Amino acid sequence: MFNDYADLRKELSEGKVTCTDIVNYYLENIKKGKHLNAFLLVFQEEALQRAAEIDKKIKAGKAGRLAGMVIAVKDVLSIKGRRLTCSSKILENFEALYTATAVQRLIDEDAIIIGKTNCDEFAMGSSNENSAFGNVLNPFDNTRVPGGSSGGSAAAVAADMCMVSIGTDTGGSIRQPAAFCGVVGLKPTYGRISRYGLTAFASSFDTIGPFSRSAYNTALVLEVMSGKDPKDSTSADHAVDNYSSGLELAKPGSLKIGVISDLDDSGLNHEVKEAVDSAVKKLADAGAEIVQLKMPELKYSIQTYYILTTAEASSNLARYDGARYGVRSPEASNMEDMYVNSRTKGFGTEVKRRIMLGTYVLSHGYYDAYYKKAQKVRRIIKEDFQKAFKKVDFIILPTTPTTAFKLGEKTADPLEMYLNDIYTTSSNISGNPAVSIPAGFDKSKLPIGLQIIGKDFDEKGILMLGNYLMKTLN
Ligand code: GLN
Repeated sequence: MFNDYADLRKELSEGKVTCTDIVNYYLENIKKGKHLNAFLLVFQEEALQRAAEIDKKIKAGKAGRLAGMVIAVKDVLSIKGRRLTCSSKILENFEALYTATAVQRLIDEDAIIIGKTNCDEFAMGSSNENSAFGNVLNPFDNTRVPGGSSGGSAAAVAADMCMVSIGTDTGGSIRQPAAFCGVVGLKPTYGRISRYGLTAFASSFDTIGPFSRSAYNTALVLEVMSGKDPKDSTSADHAVDNYSSGLELAKPGSLKIGVISDLDDSGLNHEVKEAVDSAVKKLADAGAEIVQLKMPELKYSIQTYYILTTAEASSNLARYDGARYGVRSPEASNMEDMYVNSRTKGFGTEVKRRIMLGTYVLSHGYYDAYYKKAQKVRRIIKEDFQKAFKKVDFIILPTTPTTAFKLGEKTADPLEMYLNDIYTTSSNISGNPAVSIPAGFDKSKLPIGLQIIGKDFDEKGILMLGNYLMKTLN
């Protein structure tokens, strides 16, 4: 297993291993793990071809910062000339016309893209059970879900099918599957990474971020993907830190750590709670000041999230009408039938549910009661975080209320499924960066995730603290 890219890079430059060896290693693991259904596409030949090219560059001393890093990309991100399905039937035959900025930046630094990963349809879901191309299985226990919506990306790293994978997080879709699969998953500050080439779900919430096994790998990939992009006006014009250098936390004792004293813990499993509590205690033992925060408005996060994101989704998904993109139903004699039949056949149940919910909350007569009100609550939650971060450097909380649940366990009850996002949605509402790190295992040997939320653009801080905790906890 290649764990840390810094070590791998050293071996590459010493000629102890080649990019071709690395690609072959991961291709073999992808074959072995086929039953997990983590990949929708594998770029076998192209990856080997690129490996050979990059091997030459390494010999010539001209290789980029990610030379030989094998990366899988969630199938909601565009790669020119490749199928872009968003795990939906409606885009089954669609090929991307350009490459997403985030992915292009990886390629420009000589990363090797090995394939595209399975996910929930249009990134809507918490279990990967909403994919039109089948479930993904959790590598730790094949009867359980890997989390969602970036379930394939999380499973691919956990099952050692790539060194890093890219996911997206609108309400928890990087952090929750990272927690369920025992890997590091980072959601950056909104705007940190360009969304150009990312299929929009809820544009004011959507973020792109990496999954990996270490804080260093996460930091390095983040560093490469971040920064202003003229093609995305919401990308932030904020300096990109040297995320990957100096990740060692020198003085944990000088930190102020916030814990939310009125967090809704009604569905919180006691083993998850104990794991998070013991991490906080370790920090206290190291001298950190633990500050109890009251954030009563956080209990409205789920409602606010599901009103605003469905509203945005209903608008964003209006473009899939059978006329311009992907699949068109042949059973239509006029335009309206063509729209209706294409959308009826093309979208899955959860996507339809969200389009209907979103259309409802935006409709005349209900707009003020739902959409406008939720926008106000969004502002209050954002201010709550701003106030909290005047008192503390970081907030620590569980990533998820439970460890990975069984396949099929929550599919009958959407509300139950939505409650999985109870601890993740608030930082998408506010825009703050957050990371989930592995924090041990429960009695059934399933991974537990711990979440660190940071100040806007303090990705470096949450990675440093995450790095420290991973070393002390695992
Ligand atoms: N599970 C959440 C949802 O279903 C989050 C999705 C996401 O972050 N893309 O909306």
